[in-house]
Amino acid sequence: MTPKHVDVLVIGAGGSGLAAAVSCGEQGFETLVLESCRQPGGTTGIAVGSFTAAETSHQQVAGIVDSAEQHAIDLARFAPDEIEQKNNPVSREFFSRHSADTLDWLESHGLRFVGPVAEPPNKQPRMHNVIPGAKAYIARLQLAARKQGVVIQTQATASKLLTEEGRVVGAEYRNHLGQTQQVLTRVGVILATGDYANNQELIRRFKGGGYECIEGINPHAQGLGHILAEQAGAKLLNMDVTYGPELRFVATAKRPFQQWLPATGPLAAIQSWLARRLPDWIFRKLIKRLLVTWQHPEAALFHDGCILVNQQGLRFCDERSEKDRNIGVSIQSDRQAYILMSAVQIAQYSQWPHFISTAPDIAYAYVDDYLRLRPDICHQAPTLEQIATHYRLPLAQLQQTAAGAFGQATNGPWVMLGPVKSYFTTTEGGAKINEHFQVVNEEDDLIDGLFAVGQCGLNGMVLWSHGCHIAWAMTSGRLVGRALRTLADQTTDTKKREVPNSTSR
Ligand SMILES: Cc1cc2nc3c(=O)[nH]c(=O)nc-3n(C[C@H](O)[C@H](O)[C@H](O)COP(=O)(O)OP(=O)(O)OC[C@H]3O[C@@H](n4cnc5c(N)ncnc54)[C@H](O)[C@@H]3O)c2cc1C
Repeated sequence: MTPKHVDVLVIGAGGSGLAAAVSCGEQGFETLVLESCRQPGGTTGIAVGSFTAAETSHQQVAGIVDSAEQHAIDLARFAPDEIEQKNNPVSREFFSRHSADTLDWLESHGLRFVGPVAEPPNKQPRMHNVIPGAKAYIARLQLAARKQGVVIQTQATASKLLTEEGRVVGAEYRNHLGQTQQVLTRVGVILATGDYANNQELIRRFKGGGYECIEGINPHAQGLGHILAEQAGAKLLNMDVTYGPELRFVATAKRPFQQWLPATGPLAAIQSWLARRLPDWIFRKLIKRLLVTWQHPEAALFHDGCILVNQQGLRFCDERSEKDRNIGVSIQSDRQAYILMSAVQIAQYSQWPHFISTAPDIAYAYVDDYLRLRPDICHQAPTLEQIATHYRLPLAQLQQTAAGAFGQATNGPWVMLGPVKSYFTTTEGGAKINEHFQVVNEEDDLIDGLFAVGQCGLNGMVLWSHGCHIAWAMTSGRLVGRALRTLADQTTDTKKREVPNSTSR
């Protein structure tokens, strides 16, 4: 086995890995990216694509006066107190200070954004949405990386870090033929491997029993980088903090409409031009489609009397308890269930302020929207018999369950939504890093040669609120190349200084 030699090895070709590869290329490093899947993308590629930042050029055009300091303050208002106490305010301030420049950098690589739109409790509109969707990050950054001469090798899973006298000097990986290969690095190895939402072992170990039955939305989110970092001695922070679990409607069998839109080329340019000039009401209509594609049903549904039933027509949990309903759904057959609404909840969830799902301040989806836009997961009928036939549930059991929940004499109409599954959207645990993205161990000593970005290099930040995970993935990726350049130059300077000293002795 003859090892390859490169300056920098990036493990993972999702958002942070591709951004890191471009930035390393820009710094003149010979860079190789390993990606375990057939295609680059990761969770970034299946995301909505929102990017939250303050002091951006888009805000200036819209006359919004904002500051990175205020953004950092607002970010502390999203998570409940017990989670917020675990947050890393210093890193979060660093993140909000650099994210506007990242947006400019992404635009310099051909990405286009609309917005910003509001997301309370943010004091100012800060959410920028990439056009046509998150796959544009992957398409554009791949093009940019290739222009920089970066090599991206897919179906290549890094399985071991190689060390020499305590320094990480490369990695071992399995290629598409199942062969073990080695890469040796002159400058560094960057972990850009995403989260561990679908690693049962890590979820059980850090979050506790029961939760391991719940899937991650991205089945490939296996936390392999976290494991590699831990094996190298890294300190992992906030591994018990997760975004979710929450119930989500199963994905439509059709490709979501924005996935059909081009992410590069002249058509993409026309589309960007049009999107920036779309009247607000058309923009909201388009967004509404996203709402019924990705979003989760509001927990308020269950507090207002909607119930969960399984394929046997049985109720199986206290729906009002978040833990109960998520673990409950994930241990049903097919790990799924349905939401049953009687006439009372149908009337209630047909108008403001009771919506089934939302992107706050952009659009709200009600019963009618689901019936129209997601007929595959929403059915209305005058009788329970028709509901039972439609979903192939045992009628007698469903009638008994409904009578127990809503009362014997309840008349139709009925609406059934689902299947719903319980998912972790992402995880908030990551390696502890310093300001140069270098991974550190339990004693805060550097693990020389090892760097982490994106969800793998969160450094104790809990980035709740829409648009901050991608903003961090891109910001950490953009900055790590520069950090590597600074460190490499320092090393060269030190060596230069050492040579005359040693010869004069
Ligand atoms: C449905 C959904 C919608 C979302 N929408 C948004 C949004 O609009 N805005 C937002 O900010 N956040 C959003 N998020 C979260 C956000 O997308 C992610 O947190 C972020 O994109 C993660 O970027 P990353 O580069 O860290 O990881 P990823 O994009 O997941 O990339 C990691 C890559 O590393 C590869 N990899 C892993 N291990 C190895 C290995 N050992 N060897 C080689 N390759 C490996 C993976 O295959 C993957 O391609 C969303 C998440 C979901 C699930």
